[in-house]
This record gives sequence, C-alpha cells and structure tokens, in this order.
Amino acid sequence: MAQFIDDKKRELSDKLEQSDAPDKLQQVESSFRKVMKELFAEMKTLPNEEKKDVGAAINEFKKEFEERIAAAKKKIAELSKNTAAVDLTVPSPEFIRGKIHPLIRVGRMFEEVYKEMGFSIAYGPEIENDKHNYEMLNMPYYHPARDMQDTFYLEYPKVLLRSHTSCVQVRYMLEHKPPFMIISPGVVYRVDEIDPQHTPCFYQVEGLVVGEGINLANLKWAVTESVKRVFGPEYKVKFSPCYYPYTEPSAAVDMGCIMCGGKGCRTCKGTGWMRVAGAGMVHPNVFEAVGYSRDTVGFAFGWGLNRLPMLYFKINEMRKLFENEISLWEQL
Ligand SMILES: [Zn+2]
Repeated sequence: MAQFIDDKKRELSDKLEQSDAPDKLQQVESSFRKVMKELFAEMKTLPNEEKKDVGAAINEFKKEFEERIAAAKKKIAELSKNTAAVDLTVPSPEFIRGKIHPLIRVGRMFEEVYKEMGFSIAYGPEIENDKHNYEMLNMPYYHPARDMQDTFYLEYPKVLLRSHTSCVQVRYMLEHKPPFMIISPGVVYRVDEIDPQHTPCFYQVEGLVVGEGINLANLKWAVTESVKRVFGPEYKVKFSPCYYPYTEPSAAVDMGCIMCGGKGCRTCKGTGWMRVAGAGMVHPNVFEAVGYSRDTVGFAFGWGLNRLPMLYFKINEMRKLFENEISLWEQL
C-alpha cells in the first residue's frame, strides 16, 4: 500500500510540474480527486491495525497536493495578469466615434439662431389630450381641418400622440402672460405613408411671439432671417397664402430645392420648391381659448424639421435619415 501511494504521488507530481495552463491544472486536480477516492476505498479493505498508518499517509498526501495545486493556480493567475499588463504590442480594439444625428444637428442650429434673436425654449409632453392638440387651437371636434393631421389615438377620441408642437404653445400661454418669444422643438406623429418627403414620426420647431404691435412683417423677418443665418444669405424663401385654423392670415413657407437648383426633381415633386414651414398671425379664437383678450396680437411659425437636413446635407430622401446607413453618416 505504501508503495502504491508513493507511485501515485510521483505520477501526480510529474503532471503537476508540467501544468502551465489552467486547463492542464484542472486535469491534474481531477486525477488527484480520483486517486484520493481510490486510496480511501482501498484503506477500508485493510485490517484494522494497518488502517491507522495508511490513513495518516493518505491524509499527508492529500494535504500536500491540495496546497501544491492551490499554489500552482495562484502562480498561473498571476502570470497571466502580468503578461497582459506588459504586452504593449497587442493592438487596441477599434473605437468607432459616434456623431450627432443630422436632424438634431440642424435642429440645434435653428435653436441657436432663435436663441440669438431672444427666443427661449419651451417643451411639452408627446402624449397629449384632444383639448391642447385641437380644441384650444380653434379646431373643435367637428372641424374638417382635423383631417389634415391624420392622428395616432391612444384612447379615441381624447388621448393622442401630438400631431404638432402647437400644443406646447397652448400650454405655455395658459401659464404665462405676454410679451414673450418662445420656440418649442420636438417630435410629432401622424399617420403618413413613407415617401421622399413624409415619415410617420418627424421633428418640428415651432415659434410663438406675442406682444404689443407684433405684425406680419415681424413674422416674415424672423422666418427669413433664420433661414439665412443657417443656410446662407443668398438662400431663397417664398411665402404664399395658405390656410391653418389657428392662424389668420396664414402663409406657407417654401425654400428653393437645393437638389435641382429650382428646375424640378423627384424630391421637390417637380416644383423647384420645398414646403418647409407654416406660419401666420395667431387666430383670436386661440387667444380667447387660453384666457387672453381677442385683441392680443402675435405670430406663430412651425418648421417641419425633417426637410431641413435634407436640404442642408443634400439628402434626396427623408427616410434615409432613419436608416442605419453607416456609409451615409460617415460623409455628413
Ligand atoms: Zn428639386
């Protein structure tokens, strides 16, 4: 039995000496456990007078190897740690730096321009109620103009995803008295089919200026000036009569199509112009709804922000703004 223990000891010792990696060490450890099991089983078959000495020898074997295996484990762990710390030749993983999305970039350019002009920024919730989104904006439930904004309802007919950021203007007016100048940037939702100029979720930046003596000329200046400051002084802007229930008179704002230089193309639907904003003098019914006098004067405008990065970066389709096309983003 003593000879058998010595043989096993030598065998395991050799294997342990050669274990320079965690997987090899694990094999030695499992062989060691197996040997221990065998030895204890063998010991039980011995006569009682021999059991004491053999038991002591096995326990000594067990203790010695447990210590040696633990030491070997520690050594391998330290070795791998040190190797990683000093190997300066290992190439670092590739780091891809992100960029701010073109929509947000152009949105912030406009925000900066309006802040320079003295506007402050107001935010509101994206889940709205019918009152703020339609009713107080001169669109009672029977108003046909509601059909112009095909709306996502969460709980028909009262709770909806806001179809414009004009509801932020309503909320602001309910809590503030004129004079003030605000812009309200944010996401809005409409049930629109995707085409080169439409997506069901898009960004708007709306502006509202209320105060004594505010007139249409002020509106024209603010809108034109913001385009010139972002796009350049030579940029063309066109105002044409239009209808919105919450403004009177109302105007549509178009910018010259940068893709075709005004000749007409698929992006501008052959017109040479792109509709980028709606504007007008705030309707007295809106002022009345928020508790102001009907004589109050002010103007409002609203940019469909998605079209502006298309023009700014010359992207011919709006949906590209929402596709993860890395090669496009790298060029912008
Ligand atoms: Zn065009």
